[in-house]
Amino acid sequence: MTELAERLAKILGPKGWMPAAEAGPFQRDWLDRYGAPPFGVARPACTAEVSAVLAAAHAAGVAVVPQGGNTGLCGGAVLGSPGGVILSLGRMNACGVPDAASGSIEVEAGLVLQMLHDRLDGSGLMFPMHLGAEGSAQVGGLIGTNAGGSHAFRFGMMQDLVLGLEVVLADGTVWNGMRAVQKDNAGYQLRRLFCGSEGTLGIVTRAVLKLHPAPRQRATALLVLPDEAAAVAFGTRLRAEAGEVLTGLEFFCELGLDLALRHVTSLGYPLETRGGTYLLVEIASASARMPLEDILTATLEWGMEEGLVLDGTIAASDAQRGAFWRLREEQPEGQRLEGAQLKHDVAVPPGRIAEFVAAAGARCEAILPGVRINPFGHLADGNIHYNLSPPEEAADFGGKAQELGLAIAGLATEMSGSFAAEHGLGQAKIALADALRSPVERQLMRSIRRALDPAAVLNPWAVAPARD
Ligand SMILES: Cc1cc2nc3c(=O)[nH]c(=O)nc-3n(C[C@H](O)[C@H](O)[C@H](O)COP(=O)(O)OP(=O)(O)OC[C@H]3O[C@@H](n4cnc5c(N)ncnc54)[C@H](O)[C@@H]3O)c2cc1C
Repeated sequence: MTELAERLAKILGPKGWMPAAEAGPFQRDWLDRYGAPPFGVARPACTAEVSAVLAAAHAAGVAVVPQGGNTGLCGGAVLGSPGGVILSLGRMNACGVPDAASGSIEVEAGLVLQMLHDRLDGSGLMFPMHLGAEGSAQVGGLIGTNAGGSHAFRFGMMQDLVLGLEVVLADGTVWNGMRAVQKDNAGYQLRRLFCGSEGTLGIVTRAVLKLHPAPRQRATALLVLPDEAAAVAFGTRLRAEAGEVLTGLEFFCELGLDLALRHVTSLGYPLETRGGTYLLVEIASASARMPLEDILTATLEWGMEEGLVLDGTIAASDAQRGAFWRLREEQPEGQRLEGAQLKHDVAVPPGRIAEFVAAAGARCEAILPGVRINPFGHLADGNIHYNLSPPEEAADFGGKAQELGLAIAGLATEMSGSFAAEHGLGQAKIALADALRSPVERQLMRSIRRALDPAAVLNPWAVAPARD
């Protein structure tokens, strides 16, 4: 190990190598559930350094885990046992010039998502990936998890926004796939293979990202509805009315709103009516001519006549729009500040959301009476963050966490959905994947991993573990 540390220190220089004693901030995951002490943190400044680090670690048989902003929610960006290297991409954060004619931009993997948004501000173009962690999450991490977020139903997940990639493979070999076209059928879709591979198949160092025209106008509404069935019915109508200009359809429930307002004191609730479910609706267009507000108002009136919408308001300013979005985006923070919690990231066919929420609620109540359930998320693609808080007066889940997790994940699976919608497997969901996915599927994943990394150097604890 000392020999490898000396080698890495020499490759990376004093700015690029942090010995174990300084590795504290990189050691644990965002939720502080996973992580073990690394013997050092490599902070390369360019692809050649990433390649040299991997070649050295590979020769020594030492594990390497890539880490971006470390906002992942499944423990995929930290070690599973002591002694490996954390490879932090934060210094590789260059951002190219947006190409308006081609609708693309070249970036390094360590670029923080918010920085990309800031870079595009005023250019007439946008990168349509938005999530609560965008102030820290990096392009490499977003690709590693194949992130989704609140606009995924309209613009796709990260795999749909990546045109080209540069990846350093386990032994240090560099694959340059930095093409800038959507259409590239020259064999297997390698760029897609790396999207969602959670650092187990290669280290993403650069990417060509797809850009879209920035909206020139938006209409945003906050709506109160009686329940999830009404939200699904209203969402179906809105999709039909707004078509491709519908860019946001987020839902949250009364418990989530209550926790957010109680704990995040800068939030305000603009309506007098409270209900069972809330919708944040946004329609946006790059064309200045679309009658967006008319579409929204007409659909809202229909929803009220049908008894699906109890109350609602359309944002009158950008500031108010921001305040509506914060009500949705602070849902995780409100629940975190309440105390112990269990996070679940499931997807079901959007038309079955209400059915899922009712059936999952019954299953959870049977396992732990009084458990507090806070489903919220992305209505249009069926992605529900089905998060739990312990019953009032209880400090934890009384040893029932695993049983609850399996019940929720099992139900999503039975309903043709997924128990890992947008956060990946990391270390947290390996047992679920082994229990709920077929042996054929799990074996295929192990075969792909072995083919690309036979020495099991790359993030060996994630997805389909390659080491104990
Ligand atoms: C408040 C909050 C809100 C969130 N909301 C959403 C949401 O709406 N949608 C969503 O999808 N996620 C969401 N997330 C989860 C998280 O932000 C995403 O998973 C994000 O993609 C992680 O990016 P990161 O840079 O922090 O990656 P990290 O956490 O550092 O890493 C994630 C995975 O990618 C791998 N990785 C990192 N960099 C590279 C690289 N260069 N090459 C190869 N692999 C790499 C890591 O090894 C790890 O397995 C949220 C998280 C928080 C805390």
